Amino acid sequence: MSSIVEVTHLRKLFPVKKGGLFDRQEKFVHAIDDVSFTVERGEVLAVVGESGCGKSTLALTLMGLERPTSGVIQINGQNIATLKGKEIQVVRRHVQMIFQDPYESLNPIMTIADIVAEPLKVHGLVKNKQERQERVIRALEDAGLKPALNFMHRLPQELSGGQRQRVVIAGALVLEPELLIADEPVSMLDVSIRAEILNLLLELRQMRGISIVMITHDLGTVGYVADRIAVMYLGRLVEIGPALQVLQQPHHPYTRALLSVVPVPNPRQRRERVILQGETPNPINLPPGCRFHPRCPVAQPRCQETDPMLQPVAAAHEAACLLLSSG
Ligand code: SF4
Repeated sequence: MSSIVEVTHLRKLFPVKKGGLFDRQEKFVHAIDDVSFTVERGEVLAVVGESGCGKSTLALTLMGLERPTSGVIQINGQNIATLKGKEIQVVRRHVQMIFQDPYESLNPIMTIADIVAEPLKVHGLVKNKQERQERVIRALEDAGLKPALNFMHRLPQELSGGQRQRVVIAGALVLEPELLIADEPVSMLDVSIRAEILNLLLELRQMRGISIVMITHDLGTVGYVADRIAVMYLGRLVEIGPALQVLQQPHHPYTRALLSVVPVPNPRQRRERVILQGETPNPINLPPGCRFHPRCPVAQPRCQETDPMLQPVAAAHEAACLLLSSG
């Protein structure tokens, strides 16, 4: 496998308004803070974490919808910050996003055929009506809406939630992307149809060789779809590794706490629940040392001064963290 995405030391800070006349210090929300990772071709990488950890900003930054403050995002070996005009359009076409809410993301007065054809128009990709129709049909059928002719002339409100999410996926597929960024793709759907949509994403990876970055807060489902899992806390990746390894032998205390509250059907496999104390710290005033220390159940006094994440690789952090937690 080769990398389709290479992210190096990515940071995204949002400036916040100064508090008053005497508050002259510029402050920032640290949404993404020195994050590095790769996504391989045909791989499903799940990015998990609580709300506010920066995972949705990461998705928008990968899509080019937010500009990085610093760091490099390479897609297919090209640094997207240096691309202009047509080059950026080509990259954008190959990276498509599936938004969380199929009720909000479809225009209620457009037919399904027009919604799915819209990106083809925007990118000027088809020569005639027939080619457009063929590509729309293929996208709808690959998204599981078969036969497509039964759906093309309907309006979004005539479809179920699961069917609407399939239309959203078809709208991404019609551009034949190499990478899908799925931001909580099943969180707004009934539990009964979540598995269907996750299976569909896996089929697409199989059929079209698409890579997927799946943003989610739900560690219960990622083991089913992801090849690797990256865990984010307060703008940083605290752990990344093969899905089975992260789920069965998590290294970071934060990952262990998240996993301890995931329901498991087999009572013998249940873990001791770890309830994290306190709230996630304010991303404007980050705690010194390890930013997880105010909530870490195994924090040591030196964790208030040492930030193991400043070491270049996650493995070094894991080693440092394990050393600290074993006292
Ligand atoms: Fe916990 Fe310390 Fe490891 Fe941070 S460095 S996760 S506070 S043990």
